Amino acid sequence: MNKSRVLIIYTGGTIGMWPSESGYVPQGGFNELLEQRLNKVSISALQPFDIIELDKLIDSSNIVPADWATLAKLIELHYEKYDGFVILHGTDTMAYTASALSFMLIGLSKPVILTGSQIPLAQPRTDATNNLLNAIEFAREPDNKEVCICFDDQLLRGNRAKKIHTSSLRAFSSPNFNVLGQSGIQAELCPTTLENTQQIQESQKSTPQFKTPDCCTHHVAQLHLYPGISDAQLVAVLDNPDIKGVVMLSYGAGNPPDNNHCMMSLLEKANNRGVIIVNLTLCHSGKVIQGSYATGARLNQLGVIPGADMTVEAAYTKLLFLLATEKSTEHIKTLMSSSLCGEVTL
Ligand code: ASP
Repeated sequence: MNKSRVLIIYTGGTIGMWPSESGYVPQGGFNELLEQRLNKVSISALQPFDIIELDKLIDSSNIVPADWATLAKLIELHYEKYDGFVILHGTDTMAYTASALSFMLIGLSKPVILTGSQIPLAQPRTDATNNLLNAIEFAREPDNKEVCICFDDQLLRGNRAKKIHTSSLRAFSSPNFNVLGQSGIQAELCPTTLENTQQIQESQKSTPQFKTPDCCTHHVAQLHLYPGISDAQLVAVLDNPDIKGVVMLSYGAGNPPDNNHCMMSLLEKANNRGVIIVNLTLCHSGKVIQGSYATGARLNQLGVIPGADMTVEAAYTKLLFLLATEKSTEHIKTLMSSSLCGEVTL
């Protein structure tokens, strides 16, 4: 039987970094580095795979939404030739990229696995080898047809994952969603993932219809609430004519300070201007139940959309994507309040 072909796209990140006087920096030549670090037997066991490097390798803290479209276009370009894709990416913004790609790659029927590492491949005790080998295994899994993050033996849904630790090798989790797969002696998808894949497949169009819009970044802002937030900050976000969407992070089950009249009036005016405001929780896990407290219920009257248990990365990229691809504000509001985005399930 022919082994499936995997394309590895190296974008930068710790995995391929080397120390410099000012700290770790990305460096080219990942293929050569891999050959040095893995023995010939391991390399040939991993075949067939190809590696391409982006022209400009980055620390993922420097990522911009245009880079997501570049990656989606690369996958589109090579889609027919490969059975699965591995994207080597910095951990800092990996969850944003995974979320954005999950929305752009509509009708995806092959695995797209993002991974990276906390310790560079070139350093002792690196976690890069384990993460990369697991990611390649999962990229060969034909029953996996979605954008995932593979890190420290876990396979996570891309638009559900978050970076949760700066230095632990378990750097990611999906606090509100089950793990999709585990890697022990074998890399295996969980039974619930297989059921879910079937459902996704049934609802999918037969051919992929990828969309790689130019997302206008200045159209969506994030607003983290905290005690004592200034009126000036609220005005800068909520009274800005450029801004068409706001991802607001409020307390607990979605509670804002409803005694803050400036905030309440700015939210109301923004909603009346057609700005789409999505309310998420500042908590690490759990969901927004807008109205379990009177403070939160106020938001229902102001037209703020409860964002349920979405991650901030997913809500932000989903809103950017929908504003760039959909015309009707009402339709965008409906999609933002559901766990669906086109055919993609959150
Ligand atoms: N700053 C690095 C990056 O995101 C961190 C990492 O890769 O782990 O590119």
